[in-house]
Amino acid sequence: YFILLITITRLTSTTVGKTDQCKTLLPPELANINTISTKLHNDPKTIKIASSDYGNIIHEFPIAVFHPSSIQDIITLIKISYNSYVPFTIAARGQGHSTNGQAMTHDGIVVDMASFRKQRKGVAISVFEDPLIGYYVDVGGEQLWIDVLYATLEHGLAPVSWTDYLYLTVGGTLSNAGISGQTFLYGPQITNVHEFDVITGKGDFVTCSSEKNSELYHAVLGGLGQFGVITRARISLKPAPTTVKWIRLLYSDFSAFTKDQERLISINGRKLNFLEGMLLMQQGSINNWRSSNFFPLSDQHRIASLITKHSIIYCLEFAKYYDHQSEKMVDKEIEILLQGLAYIPGLHYEKKVSYVEFLNRVRSGELKLQSQGLWEVPHPWLNLFIPKSQILDFNSGVFKDIIFKRNITSGTVLVYPMHKSKWDDKMSAMIPNEDVFYTVGFLHSSGFDNWKAYESQNKEILKFCTDAGIKVKQYLPNYSIQEDWKKHFGTKWKSFLESKHKFDPRMILSPGQKIFNK
Ligand code: FAD
Repeated sequence: YFILLITITRLTSTTVGKTDQCKTLLPPELANINTISTKLHNDPKTIKIASSDYGNIIHEFPIAVFHPSSIQDIITLIKISYNSYVPFTIAARGQGHSTNGQAMTHDGIVVDMASFRKQRKGVAISVFEDPLIGYYVDVGGEQLWIDVLYATLEHGLAPVSWTDYLYLTVGGTLSNAGISGQTFLYGPQITNVHEFDVITGKGDFVTCSSEKNSELYHAVLGGLGQFGVITRARISLKPAPTTVKWIRLLYSDFSAFTKDQERLISINGRKLNFLEGMLLMQQGSINNWRSSNFFPLSDQHRIASLITKHSIIYCLEFAKYYDHQSEKMVDKEIEILLQGLAYIPGLHYEKKVSYVEFLNRVRSGELKLQSQGLWEVPHPWLNLFIPKSQILDFNSGVFKDIIFKRNITSGTVLVYPMHKSKWDDKMSAMIPNEDVFYTVGFLHSSGFDNWKAYESQNKEILKFCTDAGIKVKQYLPNYSIQEDWKKHFGTKWKSFLESKHKFDPRMILSPGQKIFNK
């Protein structure tokens, strides 16, 4: 009925309406179709936005884009599909910051969460205190992390686990994991969620936590949007620091770099609050979009000569948070942290920034690229998790060999470790089975004419890992055949499939992940 409705109205207008002819044909539970039909849009501009993402490589065209103004609207839409003779697919689109069409649908409906954010009535971000769980924030799944930051800071509080970039939606990152330099200490964002509301593929509105509806809770977190649309998440908060000492150390030896990273994330007591690392491979990578203007101009020539000499320089990055009470201690603590580290003597850089400036550090680079028209280029990204025991093999086979030979990587390459113990194996997110593992992110920007060269490099990296027996897991995974998804989920595949049959039995949600829909 719904497809019929869309087809008819598509022929007659750009905004779907005029439902009277069809309404009489609809089952009773769909009687309120009128309330949502005016929220479906299929004008070329709207369709174009929904058929593109940050990756700018895959383009799938939906039938229409849905602009909900209430949770009930989303429930109604999903129920219409679920109850249809032939269901249509539905993809929630956060910010569309995926890189392989994960938030798209071919001939289905895209639910535009950005539009929900604008139209939703009532307060979408509220802070509370509970005697058992402490401070928390209830936040709409369509909200941006940057807005969560500003809203919670008004109470002197903040979530503890972040992504590097904050203009992502809560529902989008919770569907993956949400990682950054805090993950080694606080776990990914998915392990900092007490409970959430989700609308399943049957149109049921369910509140879940690790105690209540726990199967759905664990399935949804890291579940790639397969089981429901997250409309609210309850996220843990802690008192926010005001200031950050942000340190960068440069290494010419990968083994020394990773040894120091592993040492720093394993310190008990007065620890650091953030640790990442990246490769500097060409002069352009010294001040890339993720690290604008960190290194003083006077040292940039020296760093560039080192890159020329060694081909790759490894940059360890860590941060220590503090406020006016702990200010006196911070320098001493950093001095202790630096003791015994094997960075190149003298190549130690330090910056003092506000907490907001630190968490929102990627934004200025983004705005600069946007102003140059370089943000909306193709992004053939590859994000991997590598077991610690195999990171040196990865370095020799990938950084020193594939990347060196191909000589096309000019963007950011991130490398940093985290602890498996901070993840929850019951959740859908997949990680290597080793106590410490690394994330390696090839965050390529390419031209419209050469992204295939990066894709082919990505394939070569994955092939190398398979051939060398490196037990890699993809983060923000991208597979197009179910056999590969089965391998990705390994022993979790059975429960993932069971949950799909239970919560989205008609395979309606997030088809762009290509797990159950071609
Ligand atoms: P989308 O890309 O729109 O959606 C992603 C998936 O989630 C889709 O399958 C979609 O259908 C589903 N989905 C969206 N909303 C909901 C919802 N409410 N309920 C259920 N399913 C939903 N990731 C990190 O972990 N750490 C980082 O530091 C990091 N940095 C990034 C920096 C940049 C510049 C970019 C572009 C991405 C970065 N990412 C990072 C990746 C990011 O986490 C993913 O792209 C993620 O998908 C969030 O983006 P989004 O909100 O736009 O979701």
